[in-house]
Amino acid sequence: MIYDQIVLRYGDLIMKGRNRNQFEKRMQQQVRSALAPFKGVTYWKTYGRLYVKLNGLPYEPIANRIKDLFGLHSLSPVISSETELEAIRAAAMTLMTSLKQPPKTFKVSVKRGWKGYPHQSQEMNHLVGAHILRAFPDLSVDVRNPEVELRVDIQEEATYLFCEVIPAGGGFPYGSNGKAMLLLSGGIDSPVAGWMAMRKGLEIEAVHFHSYPFTSEQAKDKVVALAKRLAYYHGAPLKLHLVPFTDIQTTLAQQGQDNLIITMMRRAMLRITEQLAVRNGALGIVTGESLGQVASQTLPSMNVIGRATDLPLLKPLLMMDKEEIISLAKKIGTYDTSILPYEDCCTLFLPKSPSTNPNMHIVERVEAGIANLNDMIETAVRDTERMILRPNQPEPEENAGEDSWF
Ligand code: ATP
Ligand code: MG
Repeated sequence: MIYDQIVLRYGDLIMKGRNRNQFEKRMQQQVRSALAPFKGVTYWKTYGRLYVKLNGLPYEPIANRIKDLFGLHSLSPVISSETELEAIRAAAMTLMTSLKQPPKTFKVSVKRGWKGYPHQSQEMNHLVGAHILRAFPDLSVDVRNPEVELRVDIQEEATYLFCEVIPAGGGFPYGSNGKAMLLLSGGIDSPVAGWMAMRKGLEIEAVHFHSYPFTSEQAKDKVVALAKRLAYYHGAPLKLHLVPFTDIQTTLAQQGQDNLIITMMRRAMLRITEQLAVRNGALGIVTGESLGQVASQTLPSMNVIGRATDLPLLKPLLMMDKEEIISLAKKIGTYDTSILPYEDCCTLFLPKSPSTNPNMHIVERVEAGIANLNDMIETAVRDTERMILRPNQPEPEENAGEDSWF
């Protein structure tokens, strides 16, 4: 184990002027909760970066965990040394010797972050490079296209050496762009939409409509599993609202307007979700809709459905193809759960030909004719169950105090 730290770089996105401080704090929170199971790591920060000290733990599992977090541009495992020539050379030798595949060509790139260091960057490239070349007779320098780039970051407190720059997921740290409700079905699309919204820094509370006993306990377990998977990405608990939808659905199905059932169901879902959003301080609703995918996702359908709420509807998958969505679902680890067969409430009363072009006046008239629709919506909101789902990882430990960022 040669690496003693991992450096985490935010990238440019986080450097948004006034918000910077808040973004950095969110990032730190996220890293802390995600790494809570790795007992023994400690943290410190500097301008635009975070460092995770490994304290003897292997770096791969930790780096893999960090890679899945939001708001990071890249990370590198580093060896740190004293900021002194012989120490830096020795660390460079350790790093080069540790490479699994001995390279034929390399170059040294020194960045002198601390201007008090006596040797200039160019001079240091030679001082370190020549030292390596003496030890590896088969190795040569290639400044244009080296197999290995040995980077040396000279700072006052220490010098950091690394060869790998592992790209991370990008986006914004979780929760740095406010909160939205995610309409989470058991399907392929909505978990992907949730992940994309989270990646953009939205805090998410999931809302699932069930028609128990028409929908099974397994259908609920499936949604719980999906929500837990989403929680994994920010490393902290996620709230799931389970809304009883049986009465509303059955009533809507009895109106003699079969081709409008889905339209009206979706509108009822939005009205309920809006109330849950207001109660929980959320300012938007995320759905897994994709333009033209099914009858309720044509533009005329979305127009009629969307008018049921004043909140912004966020649809990350709107312009994506199904294949793209599926490959993202596989990448984020929700696909296998999503394709489990259990019935969703919307497939229950699926009419033969759901409208692709619903008439707003007819929809409003039918809805107005259901005397107790508003009451049923209130009841559904009131009877909504809440679950706090923890990601599948050991419980975060209480902060012991020694691993402070500050
Ligand atoms: P998904 O794969 O996400 O289920 P879909 O392509 O099957 O999407 P629909 O069933 O028409 O499409 O649903 C469109 C969107 O409505 C879903 O992406 C989801 O955001 C929301 N939705 C559908 N059913 C439910 C449900 N039972 N609970 C919560 N939200 C739902
Ligand atoms: Mg669906």
